[in-house]
Amino acid sequence: MAEETIFSKIIRQEIPTPLLYQDELVTAFRDITPQASTHVLIIPNKLIATINDVTEDDELTLGRMITVAKKIAKEEGIAENGYRLIINCNEHGGQEVYHIHMHLVGGQHLGKMLA
Ligand code: 5GP
Repeated sequence: MAEETIFSKIIRQEIPTPLLYQDELVTAFRDITPQASTHVLIIPNKLIATINDVTEDDELTLGRMITVAKKIAKEEGIAENGYRLIINCNEHGGQEVYHIHMHLVGGQHLGKMLA
C-alpha cells in the first residue's frame, strides 16, 4: 500500500490550496514552484504512486486527467500556442512526489528538450 503524500492533503483541503478544478476523479492546482508561466498539476483523487501502478480500472481517471488539462489550457489562454503534458515516473524520470501527477506547462516556448 502506497503512503499518502502532501497531494492527498491538498485534495482533501487539509492543506488549503486554491483548486483550479475538482470532480469525483481528479483535482488540479498550480505547482508551488512553477517551471513556466503556466504550471498546473492534475492528479487523480485516488492515490496511485507511479505510472507503474496504473491498472485498467484507472483508464477513466487517466483520460479525465487529459480532458481536464485541455480545459485548463484553454482557460489559461495557452491552448492555441501550445503546451506540454508530462508525467514523471520514478527516480530516472525525476519523480519526487509519489502520487501520480500530470504537469501542464506552457505560456512560453518550451524548446525541444523535456527537462
Ligand atoms: P515531480 O518532480 O514529482 O514530477 O513533481 C512534483 C511537483 O510537485 C514539483 O513540480 C513540485 O514543485 C510540486 N509540489 C511539491 N509539493 C507541493 C505542494 O505542497 N504544493 C504544490 N502546489 N505543489 C507542490
